[in-house]
Order: sequence, then C-alpha cells, then structure tokens
Amino acid sequence: MATKQAIKTVSPKVVKGETFVSLQISKNLDPDSMEKKLKLLYELQKTDSRIDKIYMLRGELPLEVQDLEDEILGHKAKIASLAKEVKDIEAFIASKKQDIVGAKAAIKKYEQQRNNVKNNREFDSLSKEIEYQELDSQLSEKKIADNTKILVERKEIYNAEITELTGRQEDLANKKKELDGIVKETEREEKDLLKQSEEIQSQIDPRMLAAYEKVRSNARNKMAVVKVVRGACGGCFNKIPPQRQIDIESSKRIIVCEYCGRILVSEKFDEEEGKSAPKAEAPIAKEVKKSTKTSAKEAETKPAAKKATKK
Ligand SMILES: [Zn+2]
Repeated sequence: MATKQAIKTVSPKVVKGETFVSLQISKNLDPDSMEKKLKLLYELQKTDSRIDKIYMLRGELPLEVQDLEDEILGHKAKIASLAKEVKDIEAFIASKKQDIVGAKAAIKKYEQQRNNVKNNREFDSLSKEIEYQELDSQLSEKKIADNTKILVERKEIYNAEITELTGRQEDLANKKKELDGIVKETEREEKDLLKQSEEIQSQIDPRMLAAYEKVRSNARNKMAVVKVVRGACGGCFNKIPPQRQIDIESSKRIIVCEYCGRILVSEKFDEEEGKSAPKAEAPIAKEVKKSTKTSAKEAETKPAAKKATKK
C-alpha cells in the first residue's frame, strides 16, 4: 500500500505536456551545442529571478492599498448612514418641540375660554382638553429627552468614524506614496530586465522555453533551472547520484532532478560567468529558505519511492 502511494506522489508533476523530462529523452538535441543552450537557460532563470524579486518587493503593497481603499469605502458608508440617522432624530426632536409649542398655545386658549364659560358642562369639557394637552406635552418632553440621549450617542459614533476615516485616508496616502516610490525606483530595472529576458528567450528553443515556463509556474520559488549544490539539487535538496553529477558537469544533455523536475546545471556555471549578474543571488537565497520546507516533505516520500523503483 505504501509503495503504491509513493509511486503516485513522486513523478506526476513532471510528465504532463512538454517538460524537461520529455526533452531529456528527445533525440533531436545535439550534445555539442547543449552547454550553450543550458547556459542560456540558466541566464534566463537568473534574469527572471531578478524580475521576480522586484515584484516581490512591491509584493504586499498593492494589496494593502486595495485593503485601505475598501476600508475607507466602509467608513464612508457608515458615516453617511449615521449622518442620515442624526438628521432624522434631530427632525423628530424639532417636531416634538413644535408639538409642545402647539399644546401650550392650545392650553392658553382653552384657559381663556374657561374664564368665560356659561355652564359647568363647558367648564369640564375645557378642563379635560387642557389636561389632555398637558399630558401630550409631557409625553413630547419625554420623547425629546430619550431621543436627545440617542442623538448624543450617535454623534459620538459619527465623530469616531470621522476620526477613523481621516486616519485611514492618511495611511492610504502614505502607502500610495511608498508604492509609487518603489515602482518608480524599480521601473527602469524592471524594463531592462524584461527586455533582457526577452532577448535570451529569443535564443532558446521554443520547446525548451515551454518546458521552462511550465516548471517555473509550478515551482513555489519560480525556479526551473538550478545548480547542483554540494551534490544535491539546488531546488529541492535531494541528493543526486554521483554518475548523474558527472553527466551534469559535462553539460552534454539535459538532466532533470527526478524529485522536483527542475533542470540541473553545473555548479561551475556561475564561476565561468564571473560577476555578470551579482544581484541575482539575493532572490535565490531567499527562496531557498522557503523550499527547505518542501524538501522535508519530499524527503518523507523518498525512501519509499526508492524501494518502489527497485522492484
Ligand atoms: Zn530537485
């Protein structure tokens, strides 16, 4: 059972479509020109890694700007709804105040009429009217008091929202400035590198390029071409058998890491290139850290896989 699972987990990534594996066994590739091809591919990887690094630098900023813009929209909507609520409460209080004024005027009128009544029935009727207007007036007073409390609360929330909105708007302005700065700073380099990448790509066999793009898009660190590092794959850190290491050194054919599907190139490639692209080292070093986690996972399936292949 364990063996079956191991077979499934090791190889499938690499087999679909054009990959370095299918190129590896292709007969059309001339061994004598292979070193040049591999070097071009490695140059392309270094250039693309530098472009990746620029995008990584911008990384979270565009997202943070978007988040702040969303947050600001939320505050604005809340402020608009609170403003409407405040206006409605104020209008209600004003209408109740108007009711009281009306009730008081009515009471005054009824009192005057009561002074000139002709009989008891009229007197009682007017007294009841006055009593009713007084009760109505009291009720209005209570409603005014209750709503004034609510109004104070709502105004506090409204003011807090305004403060919050102002803060987020300041944050947004700062983030935008930061992002613009980085974009401006790296714009030129990005343009040059993209041009360089295109130039290298134009010299590479389309099938090889397709395989490169495919492996790169699948790899978490976007590395499709890696060097041998101390006898191990520079992408997944699995050990490479000595005979394969010799084959890689000779650069006569494409050698693919059997664990991660990345193309392996000689450790000497960088030495020969000299210091043509020193900046390329930084993103690679960063990504290596991340891929250590993957290598641990891959290592788990490794012993079982070996057993499986022996059968
Ligand atoms: Zn590997």
